[in-house]
Amino acid sequence: MSFTLHGLAVSEGIAIGQANLVSSATLKISRVAISPRRVEKEIARFDDALARTRKELMAIKASPSDSSTDIGAFIDLHLMLLSDAELTEAPREIIRTRLCNAEWAVSMQMENLVRQFEQIEDIYLRERSIDVRQVAERIIRKLASRSGRFAQRAGKTLRSAPVDARIIVAHDISPADIMSIKDTDYASFITDVGGATSHTAILARNMALPAIFGLHNASELIRDMETLIVDGSRGVVIVDPDDAVLDEYRARKARLEREHSKLKLLKTARAVSLDRVKVDLLANIKDLDDIQPVLESGAEGIGLFRSEFLILGRANALPGENEQFDAYRTVVEAMGRRPVTIRTFDLGNDKNLLPVEDYANQKRNPALGLRSIRLSLADPQTFQAQLRAILRASALGQVRILIPMLSHAHQIEQTFAALDQAKSSLREDKIAFDENIPVGAMVEVPASALSLGVFLRRFDFLSIGTNDLIQYMLAVDRSDEQVSPLYSPLHPAVLSLIAATIRQAAKAGIPISICGEIAGDPHLTRLLLGMGLRQFSMRSGQIPAVKQRIKQSNVSKLAPSVRRLLRSDDASKIMAGIERMNR
Ligand code: PEP
Ligand code: MG
Repeated sequence: MSFTLHGLAVSEGIAIGQANLVSSATLKISRVAISPRRVEKEIARFDDALARTRKELMAIKASPSDSSTDIGAFIDLHLMLLSDAELTEAPREIIRTRLCNAEWAVSMQMENLVRQFEQIEDIYLRERSIDVRQVAERIIRKLASRSGRFAQRAGKTLRSAPVDARIIVAHDISPADIMSIKDTDYASFITDVGGATSHTAILARNMALPAIFGLHNASELIRDMETLIVDGSRGVVIVDPDDAVLDEYRARKARLEREHSKLKLLKTARAVSLDRVKVDLLANIKDLDDIQPVLESGAEGIGLFRSEFLILGRANALPGENEQFDAYRTVVEAMGRRPVTIRTFDLGNDKNLLPVEDYANQKRNPALGLRSIRLSLADPQTFQAQLRAILRASALGQVRILIPMLSHAHQIEQTFAALDQAKSSLREDKIAFDENIPVGAMVEVPASALSLGVFLRRFDFLSIGTNDLIQYMLAVDRSDEQVSPLYSPLHPAVLSLIAATIRQAAKAGIPISICGEIAGDPHLTRLLLGMGLRQFSMRSGQIPAVKQRIKQSNVSKLAPSVRRLLRSDDASKIMAGIERMNR
């Protein structure tokens, strides 16, 4: 029976395909149908994985390096969960009744339990859902490590099924999950939770995959292999559509693709307004896969290289100096004389290296915790390796260093001290680099925007990270769909802080850009131009649309309208004013 679900439209475009239900623990695991004859063997695989997981936990508990009482108590809890019928009996029952592989049965039961825990009022008990997830993921890893020929064969059968495209349906997906499946053939993904400015959402847009988040219970309502239409522009999922609806959406999809290719014709056009104001349009990238689209978009450089994506999704250790240097060099060489702004690792929070094991981190408030530059300063060895790699790449082109999440003057000094140390070590090693490499700061903590003087004195350029700036100003978690209506770039306080930051930087003669998502939203282009912004950095797919808007704008007329708009403290009036400006 056909039905429709509504969620947050986080990445535009239309996808039509078959649902592939996955859990974040098991993104690479698909549901595999088994014959009734196979059931007992599958249950035996599951029992073997349980036994090995128990053994592993006992070994961790006995290990001298992990003998702190905290860890001991934590392992005891996991051992207890491992003996609970909810995790031992229920998956067996799922294998028997639903005739599916053990990995799938464990992940289904894990999602069931997590949902039950999340409804508990007591915070302590609610948080135990993390432990359930961790134990289940451990079992799944054990299963995966001995999947054998059966799983491989089954996987092949599933992949060769005649489908237009596969659409991931999940309760939640982390950025690391997305990075680990980015080379597969998924056409779209939809989730029960997640905010529109979360890093997972940014990745979806970056990869031009239609996506909808915050669908609440889509992963319960949608069945595996069901046909789905995902309308990422409107936030609508149509489950099991009839032929007439399918035809309508196929036509709409083709129309969108035609409009998109028309915009591409603007590639070589200059971003100049009607009154001859030149604007720099730069691209945000996450890794080397993004270089080709950047070159095709006509971007004038890279305004933000989110270098942490070189790490996320990889199974092995952190990339060392040489591996990073190779990556930076590839980007710099591809961009020729155009600038490449490499941001130092912005790890932590949802861009977590160890999402499963890092239980301690998850108990705290990671958006306010040891993330980003704070993490880099706390780990000098990793920071030095990255700074050296960036500096080495600076000998080959126009490289700029960008530092995320700074808020305190002493962090600025520590950062420059670390940079000096990296430079001295390269001089000692007689390795070339750009002695005058420009160093910039992201303005994404409200405190930095409100004490901009020190940033203007110390840095060569600034970039406003509105994604985080909005989150921290409005105290709204950017990855939480429950508060997403409150996540508003047009809040009068947000707009006035952005405008003041641009104004102060212009007065001091320090180049400033915006690299948060609002820079790529053509509805806000005129607003930002009117504030005086002349450098925008966005995912490359948005460059043509923003360029078109600039070419149709008269910048000198925008400034007074925007000044008037900023005097208002009424968000709905601001919205109406922007609509008027866009006519
Ligand atoms: C931002 O915060 O606006 C930004 C560009 O950085 P990120 O989205 O990677 O946190
Ligand atoms: Mg940020």
